[in-house]
Amino acid sequence: MTDIHRQASMFEANIEEDKNTADELEKLRAEIRRHDQLYYVEAAPEISDREYDALFRRLLDLEHENPSFITPDSPTQRVGGEPLKEFRSVNHEIPMLSLANTYSEDEIRNFQRRVTDGLDRIAPNYSAELKYDGVAISLRYTDCILTLGTTRGDGEKGDDITQNIRTVYSVPLRVKPIEIKGAILKNFEVRGEIYMLKEDFLTINREREENGEKLFANPRNLTAGTLKLQDPKEVAKRPLKITCYYLYSEDVKLELHSENIRLLQKMGFPVGNLRICNTLDDILDYIYYWRERRESLPFFIDGVVLKVDSLRQQDELGMIARSPRWAIAYKYEAAKAQTLLREITLQVGRTGVVTPVAELQPVFLAGSTISRATLHNADYIAELDIRPGDTVVVEKGGDVIPKVSGYVAELRPADSQPYVFPIECPCHLHNKLHRPEGEANYYCDHAQCPWQIRRKITHFASRNAMNIEGLGEKIVDRLTDLGILRTIADVYDLHNRADELAALDRWGKKSVENLLKAIEKSKKQSFARVLFALGIRFVGEGAAKILSKKFVSIDSIAEATAEQLMSVEDIGERTAASIAAFFAEQDEREVIERLKTAGLNFNRDIGEENNLSPILEGKIFVLTGELPNMTRKEASDIIEAYGGKVSGSVSKKTTFVLAGENAGSKLEKARGLGVAIINEDDFRNMVK
Ligand SMILES: [Zn+2]
Repeated sequence: MTDIHRQASMFEANIEEDKNTADELEKLRAEIRRHDQLYYVEAAPEISDREYDALFRRLLDLEHENPSFITPDSPTQRVGGEPLKEFRSVNHEIPMLSLANTYSEDEIRNFQRRVTDGLDRIAPNYSAELKYDGVAISLRYTDCILTLGTTRGDGEKGDDITQNIRTVYSVPLRVKPIEIKGAILKNFEVRGEIYMLKEDFLTINREREENGEKLFANPRNLTAGTLKLQDPKEVAKRPLKITCYYLYSEDVKLELHSENIRLLQKMGFPVGNLRICNTLDDILDYIYYWRERRESLPFFIDGVVLKVDSLRQQDELGMIARSPRWAIAYKYEAAKAQTLLREITLQVGRTGVVTPVAELQPVFLAGSTISRATLHNADYIAELDIRPGDTVVVEKGGDVIPKVSGYVAELRPADSQPYVFPIECPCHLHNKLHRPEGEANYYCDHAQCPWQIRRKITHFASRNAMNIEGLGEKIVDRLTDLGILRTIADVYDLHNRADELAALDRWGKKSVENLLKAIEKSKKQSFARVLFALGIRFVGEGAAKILSKKFVSIDSIAEATAEQLMSVEDIGERTAASIAAFFAEQDEREVIERLKTAGLNFNRDIGEENNLSPILEGKIFVLTGELPNMTRKEASDIIEAYGGKVSGSVSKKTTFVLAGENAGSKLEKARGLGVAIINEDDFRNMVK
């Protein structure tokens, strides 16, 4: 064979090889897309998380070896984008109109009359849909591939947030071409609402509270803020969802809006509840139905959207100003009540952050009695100009947490004075509060601030930290008041003061014994838990677990440079700086020395890791009811020891529900979602 021939045949071999690679990649992607659809949209996964991870890993590896084969619709591209400096502005092909909205039934009647008049007295059908409380976006697909995702912006043009949208798993990156009426649907625009589940929102806020960070007011704000993040990797960490309510294509034109929605569903887009209504009664019935049930939905809705179902009739009606004549949003009132603001107190968290709290005359609102509500910070109070002695308006709407939204001017006392934010911490150490530049919060940074110490000790003893039963908030407050507890290290000296404790009012010998036993038991807690319990700012449970795996001991963490800390996955600049600041404190180092002497775990426990294989890794358990032979706590510990996770509520992500006697609504929910339900015996066999 001549050289030329040899080269030519090698070239052919390469082409052949490339083709095989491309085929395998496309097969893998199709497989992963199918499982994404089953998991995120249909809630009916066919394979375990571990099997899915293996597929995904295979795809990542193959793409890594063949970077030229990476396509924008590959499932790996959901998390891969680079941070942007700013978002590109894009014109909408069809303007994103804003709907007229109303809180009044009369206006719904008027709307219906106007529509009927506009259609020459022909009463049309309406589609009624839930109005998700999220952020409107537009998705453009070219040749079945997601090519552009934009915010609504001003309706004429929005921001290109394609990279961020790709991280939302329920948004298909590619769809199958569908043939309808002889045409193939390949190029189209979809619109929908990006939103977050109440449960996911609460989890994020809980973590932020633990870290002394500012809380998000509601899922909508959090969603909007997330979509504007410039680093898609950060966006990917937030569990966003989509529901779609609009389809437009030049390729295929259907007659009804509701047909479009059904088509979207067929293509794999999540869609919401929809009912066709013929009469005003039907419409009002739908509105009332969901007003009664909206609290029990896993996401927030703020009303109902009515649209004329026929697209031809929609065109006929056209628009007025910048709103379509064929649609209206009926919005639900936020639940509101008025009550007296008795006083504003300050609450000091374990990181020293000072939060003003409205102490209210108890008032019943949407299912619960409210006597306190956060006022967030000094700016919030100043903006609303609320003052102690005012009759204030308390609201529970799109916000999970009740909030004070204003005051009733007519009821303000004549001698009322504007509220002045205190300059000193309520700890009475004559410590001036300070407000770091650019932050909304005031802080008490006195090392001896008893309020901070109390919350620090409560955190230390809490269930997910050292888990010392019997050392709750009330006891901690009492013992710090008496000067018995001054630091977390004092907890392990309590056995020297057993008689003193037993002599405290209403505390018998038995309770003291139990407490001391729980304290003794806590010495066996893992290194990760000890790290979390120390209460280092920004080191939540997750970060503590990661640190405990990457470093052999507390000393190696204390000695690590900022760069070394930041080289650990998920440890950012802010956390690294906070860790460094923590170990620079003489007081903290002394506390750690005392805890070491007490016998706490400050080293990676290698024995434990080797004995138990992580057979439950990637599995999420939910426990419910009473198990015959073990407590739920014991079961949780076993699950975690084998690498599994325990969650408080059942969702699509749950792998198993471990159920005992008297199991309640969680079991129902698991059945509804088709989650596997096991009993204690099954569980024991699993971990034997
Ligand atoms: Zn203080």
